[in-house]
Amino acid sequence: MSNFNSLAVSELEALQTELKEKYEEYKSQNLNLDMSRGKPCTEQLDLSLEMLDTVTSNSNLKTADGVDTRNYGGLEGIPEAKEFFASILEVNPKNVIIGGNSSLTMMHDTVSRAMFHGVYGSEVPWIKFPTVKFLCPSPGYDRHFAICELFNIEMIVIDMLEDGPDMDQVEKLVGEDETIKGMWCVPKYSNPDGITYSNEVVERLANMKTKARDFRLFWDNAYAIHHLTDTPDELKNIFTACEEAGNPDRVIIFSSTSKVTFPGSGVAMMAASENNLDFFRTQMFVQTIGPDKINQLRHVKFFKNTDNLKAHMEKHASIIKPKFDRVLQLLSEELGDKGIASWKKPNGGYFISLNTLEGCAKKTVQLAGEAGVKLTGAGATYPYGKDPKDRNIRLAPTFPSLEELSKAIEIFCLCVQIVSVEKLLA
Ligand code: PLP
Repeated sequence: MSNFNSLAVSELEALQTELKEKYEEYKSQNLNLDMSRGKPCTEQLDLSLEMLDTVTSNSNLKTADGVDTRNYGGLEGIPEAKEFFASILEVNPKNVIIGGNSSLTMMHDTVSRAMFHGVYGSEVPWIKFPTVKFLCPSPGYDRHFAICELFNIEMIVIDMLEDGPDMDQVEKLVGEDETIKGMWCVPKYSNPDGITYSNEVVERLANMKTKARDFRLFWDNAYAIHHLTDTPDELKNIFTACEEAGNPDRVIIFSSTSKVTFPGSGVAMMAASENNLDFFRTQMFVQTIGPDKINQLRHVKFFKNTDNLKAHMEKHASIIKPKFDRVLQLLSEELGDKGIASWKKPNGGYFISLNTLEGCAKKTVQLAGEAGVKLTGAGATYPYGKDPKDRNIRLAPTFPSLEELSKAIEIFCLCVQIVSVEKLLA
């Protein structure tokens, strides 16, 4: 099949009839396929099942420094968890706080506290400004945008380029506007593009001049160790880059084991300068007497060392890589040479991000939904749910079985074609 853009009207019309017939055939099967959220599949969850046995009624539940994990205390996490997870965050354990079960909660709370109390070095709480703005590289993670919406933080879309956010845009904006207080970054295998920020982008983020002296990078390294290949992307260390740039307090790093062990029952973590952490500690002290230390201990006992963690992540990859490969293969077979869609092959993370022709994403997602294939809502990857070009669709291949996934992608590709033909005929 040739490029749709070079087909005559009569050819497009014939194609339309053919595609619609196929679509009706699928529709009559009353399918119910869900690839809307990036969730691990059951086989992946099974990889961590033994972790639940590492803490039993007769185990030693004391930490390395003798604290009973069953009791209150340990505001910033148990020492062995700080030590262990510092390796994921690539910082010194003294710069780490191990929290509860969700990094998103830590991000939400950090933004919330900044609004009410500012951050270390703020002259006034952020909320005292008539508007507070965040830079949002997009497409991006919908939940980050939801946090901004909740706190009435104005979001500014920053284009994602091949090696991360468009730094010319970023530098210009932060250099001029003191109400830009933050920026969301998913620096490795970004959600949804799968892009890893280049060294240059990391350095420019660390070094750029910001009008707001209390500007913060919200560095959500959710996919730090979630590789799909033997030659993983390398991400420059933002923490040391900021220190070297003389901006040690600029970055707050987040991560979790949600897609390492159990989403919802994993361990969340953050890292920042000692100034930042001291500031947070005084507020956290009021919020909680301490996190779930038993879960932290369970994680450390299960993994024991970083080699085991690496081997564990390789098992995840061996389960989900065939799914990514299948999606990429089908996209290439069904859409490859038609000039109606483009996508990236990620080296890690949880998503494949596809761009349709402009103005086609919403209709495609709707059509797929009517044929029983649930996708992430079009627009969700942009602030306020508004994709200015209505073209980005996030595919989440991990949860469905290979068989379900194949069918879902076949239908999806059919829908992309139908909507594209419609646009070309209009
Ligand atoms: N950050 C990103 C970029 C994600 O994609 C997700 C989940 O999809 C999360 C955070 C959620 O993390 P947690 O489960 O630790 O709250």
